[in-house]
Amino acid sequence: MSYSNRIKKEQSYQNCAANVPQNFKIASTNSKTGLSINMPLKTCKPSVVCERNCYACRGPIMFKNSIIKSLRVAAFFDNTNATDAAMRVSKEFVNEKFIRWNGSGDLTEKTVEVINSIDKPQHVFSRIPELLNKVNNNVVRILSIDEETLDKINKLNDSSIKTAYLFDEKSNEEILVQNIDKIDLIFLTRPDLITKIPQEFRNKLCKCDAGLRPHALSCMVCFDEKSGCWAKKEV
Ligand code: SF4
Repeated sequence: MSYSNRIKKEQSYQNCAANVPQNFKIASTNSKTGLSINMPLKTCKPSVVCERNCYACRGPIMFKNSIIKSLRVAAFFDNTNATDAAMRVSKEFVNEKFIRWNGSGDLTEKTVEVINSIDKPQHVFSRIPELLNKVNNNVVRILSIDEETLDKINKLNDSSIKTAYLFDEKSNEEILVQNIDKIDLIFLTRPDLITKIPQEFRNKLCKCDAGLRPHALSCMVCFDEKSGCWAKKEV
């Protein structure tokens, strides 16, 4: 399933998303992060690398119910004031160590407002530097980039925002190596691609994606160890 097909599905299910069940929950479960907030892909500005690897375009997250849920989540944030939305999100994550945003999809002006109204550790990935710049600096903020979108780093206005480089089987190793100083984390689309990463840069790998640590709830391990995304960035 391609990104454009996923967008077509979101458009065709938009009406179903208007009926919100009583027991509607904002958060969804994800084996890597635990609970996360999944937005629809209409919020994304994907690169070609991102489109060809988008995990929200295949598997269970493409099922009709998951797509409708993501549309309801976006509608909830659009139609709820930021303070109320922040309280609702905090309540759903009360037993979690942190709140993970954008298991799918990306930031919007409204979700930035909600994130900035929450007093709890949060983990935010985005491909939109202009919005990431607006997120409070007590949040773990990570700009997702790849070899086509390296120039987005120049749009960051805060050097404490981290950069995560998506590397797939078509990625050019030379480009990665030439820009390694600007990259904080490397995300592999398949564990066997680790052989393409020079040994001296493997300390930047997401251990979970590189197959160096079991996938289940791996972000929680990083949170506890203050490693990976949660490691303090030297600025
Ligand atoms: S580095 Fe750790 S926290 Fe970041 S995505 Fe990978 S497993 Fe999750």
